[in-house]
Amino acid sequence: MKKQNIFIDFDGTICFDRFWRLLPLEIRSKIGKFLFQDNLQLFKEWMRGKRSSEEIHHMISEECGLNYNMMWEHFVRGCQTVSVSEDILKALLDCKKNNTLILITDNLDCFNRFVKKELNLSNYFHYIFNSYDYGRLKEDPVQEGLFKKIIDLNKFDLHNSVLLDNDAQNCELFNQLGGKSFLIKDKEDTVSTLNMLRKGNNVSPLLGYSRINSK
Ligand SMILES: [Mg+2]
Repeated sequence: MKKQNIFIDFDGTICFDRFWRLLPLEIRSKIGKFLFQDNLQLFKEWMRGKRSSEEIHHMISEECGLNYNMMWEHFVRGCQTVSVSEDILKALLDCKKNNTLILITDNLDCFNRFVKKELNLSNYFHYIFNSYDYGRLKEDPVQEGLFKKIIDLNKFDLHNSVLLDNDAQNCELFNQLGGKSFLIKDKEDTVSTLNMLRKGNNVSPLLGYSRINSK
């Protein structure tokens, strides 16, 4: 039987740690407000590869009056020490035996520079794709988005593909392209979904859609 392609998101699906988590709460709050409330477009530009981690931290430093070196050291260390649970790593390895595993993430240059290597992700995935390298995000219009770009470039058969992602909009976009999605709720959900897919049996489309609709 043809191997099934299993696309898997990173943040909120296999990893639940934040890159800035080692900084004191007060500083994290300032960074969060600057990046995710006041300058979300800037953050998206970063995920599209138009900015570097250093450039963004210099901006935060200037705008929020925070010490660059202190922030930078905590940020890098935070990236280098994010974790994926043993349960998930085991489920990934089991799944990899009979399926093609594809990590697909809206992410930043620090993912390529620090996270990927420290977590030895290439041991768990056949392919790793980061929005930073492709200039587009999963949430972009479906024909121009990251999923479509990666599928076309690598000639993945969508009708033999599933997605595990904690974002409902991403799941809907993947379905629109012709795949099936599993909306992930938490760590346990990731493990049980991977275990269900492990044997390489094609899942029923109904199963995938029902999971989306059940949220
Ligand atoms: Mg996610």
